[in-house]
Amino acid sequence: MKNSFKILIIKGVPIQLHWTFLLLIIWVLAMQVIGREPLNTAILTIGELLAVFVCVLFHELGHTVAARHYNIPISKIQLLPIGGLTYFSKQPATPRQEIAVAIAGPLVNIFIALAMIPLLPPGTSFWKVGVIFSSLHSGNFWHFLYNINLALAIINLLPALPLDGGKVTRGVLGLFFSSYTAFQNTLIITKIFSWLMAGAGLLTGNLLFIFYGCFLLFASSIEKDNYVISYLLKDENVGDVICHDYKTLDVHISRQELLNAICSNNDRYYVLTDKDNIVGILDRETILFSLLNSRETVALKDMILPDIVPVQAGNKLTDIWNQLPSKPDVYIPVTSTNQQVIGVISRDNIISNILQHAITAHKKPLAFGCIIPLLLSLMTS
Ligand SMILES: [Zn+2]
Repeated sequence: MKNSFKILIIKGVPIQLHWTFLLLIIWVLAMQVIGREPLNTAILTIGELLAVFVCVLFHELGHTVAARHYNIPISKIQLLPIGGLTYFSKQPATPRQEIAVAIAGPLVNIFIALAMIPLLPPGTSFWKVGVIFSSLHSGNFWHFLYNINLALAIINLLPALPLDGGKVTRGVLGLFFSSYTAFQNTLIITKIFSWLMAGAGLLTGNLLFIFYGCFLLFASSIEKDNYVISYLLKDENVGDVICHDYKTLDVHISRQELLNAICSNNDRYYVLTDKDNIVGILDRETILFSLLNSRETVALKDMILPDIVPVQAGNKLTDIWNQLPSKPDVYIPVTSTNQQVIGVISRDNIISNILQHAITAHKKPLAFGCIIPLLLSLMTS
């Protein structure tokens, strides 16, 4: 099932909305109906929500513009009820690039807040976000935007991974230390900060602080797993771990040929092609289900798995890792420079290759010290 849907494309970057965001709007509307609020209050509340998300979108576009400046491709921007996510197809190459890309998002929010200052009544304080949020009217809309953007900038600049502030901290440390030391130290800062936040929440009874402290602890452990993966994959290319054992199906195949093709093997996935051009990846179960439910010709094009983008054999594994489907056995096509399919790649076959390399290269228990966290992170992905 697709968990997000595209709402627009800005400069070639797809902007996706996570389905839970719609759930949030329905929930807010339901609260308005239950509370018997007048129609204009309900519209204003939804307007508030959308204004926040437009500011979040501008924040993510700030990261996009900075990343593009360094030729770092962006695969998509995703908007969720808890904020936005920019998916980079490649990681920043130097600490300076990491600092610039990370700080660009909060800078956009600071610029929006500064632009609001001439429109604010004298003596405006930014920390009264809650008050403004619950009593928004056309007269204090600029004040609301000012508060929201300052809050977004401050929250994102906290020195904890995976927030922008954590990435800036890692980038600054990376200017003086090795990438590994910079990451380790940022992780220690993140843990201290998260525990302090959760502790402050416990002492003051602030549930938001407790939740945010726990969230940062959890999210930073995922960052750690991702770092271990990128460390192990750093010298490998797609071509080094490519799998040539796959089956193709042509988009014009007849029903009988299709039946014969999938009954002659036990492959879980197939590459769908149209005159040697890749159309997508098909799931065996979906094909069987459609064969059972229809006596007509099966439209294979309509069954391809969403969000599968072919990669080239020369790409670095670290650059395409996040592009791979989260289900470890789902593969994506690997193409040559002239766009011909030459193999497939999945998280499963990358891991088995890395395991083989590590065991033959080291033949020491130390190798397993690196591999165990990697396997654990895969099981939880
Ligand atoms: Zn950001």
